[in-house]
Order: sequence, then structure tokens, then C-alpha cells
Amino acid sequence: MNAGARIVLLGRQGAGKGTQCVRLSRHYVVPHISTGDILRAAVREGTELGKMAKAVIDAGQLVGDDIMVGIVKERLEADDARTRGYILDGFPRTVAQAVALDEIAAERPVGMAIDLVVPRELVLSRLSARRVCRDCGANFQSTGVDPRPWTCENCGGDVVQRDDDTPAAINQRLDLYETQTQPLIEYYGRSGRMHPVDGVGSPDEVFSRLTSVVDGH
Ligand SMILES: [Zn+2]
Repeated sequence: MNAGARIVLLGRQGAGKGTQCVRLSRHYVVPHISTGDILRAAVREGTELGKMAKAVIDAGQLVGDDIMVGIVKERLEADDARTRGYILDGFPRTVAQAVALDEIAAERPVGMAIDLVVPRELVLSRLSARRVCRDCGANFQSTGVDPRPWTCENCGGDVVQRDDDTPAAINQRLDLYETQTQPLIEYYGRSGRMHPVDGVGSPDEVFSRLTSVVDGH
């Protein structure tokens, strides 16, 4: 799989998906398409899409399939994704979205879905220590003694703990993720595209497991 790659990366929050997506993107020279990043940028820039998304988010709801499928479709039509492929992060989240993705990407379909597997107890402790840049969304880990004020090394924004990073809220999100993702894993499994990869270990160890799965595909 030298000429690009077409990958969906799944994994619980806190599984290290973001880090590995960036590395895979550099290694295979394919765009890392994070729907979270695209949404945050759209909201920040106040685009039409951003305004629609913000209204939904402010109402405490999840951005619907129509908006999500629309932004992914638009992004997949850009030159880099057309010629090299893509690593999708944060999409699809549901079988309905996966079906829509197979339709909009029919000419350049998803080659493989990788599930980055990290036990729930481990991601719980990582997420409890998570701190997030309010402006660019970069993630950091608290060591117990946080700098005050803590400013983002990428953009200078405030680094804070999200209000919804409490153990109860984290557990609720992990439950929701599992409920949604199990059918997705079955969906990709039925077409022989599902590849679980052990996500426990150093970023280098996990990365080398990922590349051997992608290269062996
Ligand atoms: Zn930042």
C-alpha cells in the first residue's frame, strides 16, 4: 500500500488515536481528516457550516449525519484526498454514516478500518488527566502539578480541563461510544475490512503495529 492509503481509524476517546493519525498521515503522505478539527475550524471561522454546527452544539445536541456527511464529502473531494487517500478520524461514528461514506467515497472506498484497542480503565485515567487547549483543541496530560496559567505550546491559548471530563461524564461517553461502535465494527467486519490493533504501549510501539497491519494489507 505504497500509493497512499484509505483508512478509518476507530478507538475509544483517550486511545491515542489523534497522535497515531498524525504519524500515519506523515508516513503514508495522506491527509489526516479529523471531523472534530474541521468542525472546530468552521465554528471559529463562522462559516455557514460552522454556524449550523454551533447552533446544534449550543443546544446540547450532537451534530447530525447530514452535516457530518456533507463536510466529509467536501473534504474527500479535495486534490490531496483524491490522489493520495485519507485517514478518517472521528467519522464514521454510526453504521448510517459508514453506509453514507461508502456511497460518497464509492470511487475511492475505505480500504480498511482499524480499531485501536485500549482497555477502558486505562483510557479512564488518561481522560481524567486530560487538559485541552480552548482555542486549537490540542490535548495535554496533567502530571498532577499543572502550570498556572497553562498556555498552549502551539497557539498560546488557555489549556483547561473540560467541564465534561468528570469520571461520570467520561463513563457516559465511553458507554455511548461502545453502543455506537459495536455495530460499526460488525459492519466493517462483514466486508473483511476490520483490523483490531493493540493500542497499549509507547507511541512508537503502537505505530509500528499499525504500519505492519497497513503494509500487510
Ligand atoms: Zn492551542
